[in-house]
Amino acid sequence: MSLPPKVLNFIWRSLRNILPTCESLFKKKCVASSICLRCLLAPETVKHCLIECHFAKQCWIQSNFGWHGLTGDFVEWFEEQRKRNLKMKLKEAVMILWSLWEARNNLCWNNKQSTPTTTLHRPKKALEECQFGGRDVYCCCV
Ligand SMILES: [Zn+2]
Repeated sequence: MSLPPKVLNFIWRSLRNILPTCESLFKKKCVASSICLRCLLAPETVKHCLIECHFAKQCWIQSNFGWHGLTGDFVEWFEEQRKRNLKMKLKEAVMILWSLWEARNNLCWNNKQSTPTTTLHRPKKALEECQFGGRDVYCCCV
């Protein structure tokens, strides 16, 4: 999949369940709580942060994908998207996932709230930068 390296790195880590979510940091005793910083209602797992949390849900509803619920884990959800969508559309889904993670990090580290609109706009901007060889896309390592 041709995507910015930082996005590929992100999706690789999310599918292996090694993103530094509150839940995984809590297990490593790095943070005091595993609860999602956005909704304060559930442990922040990869699945919760990127699909289930009300903010993620809002973003998916406003996107071309919609929100179809979730029965299995995150890997199963991703696999379903892969089967259901053409390559181009899957790329868009990956970019939205990445942007949701960026929004989460902005909240966690900068105390900045994002809206679904800005979260859905970020992928377009990043892909444009990638297409035109924007430097910050290629020099950013996660
Ligand atoms: Zn949440």
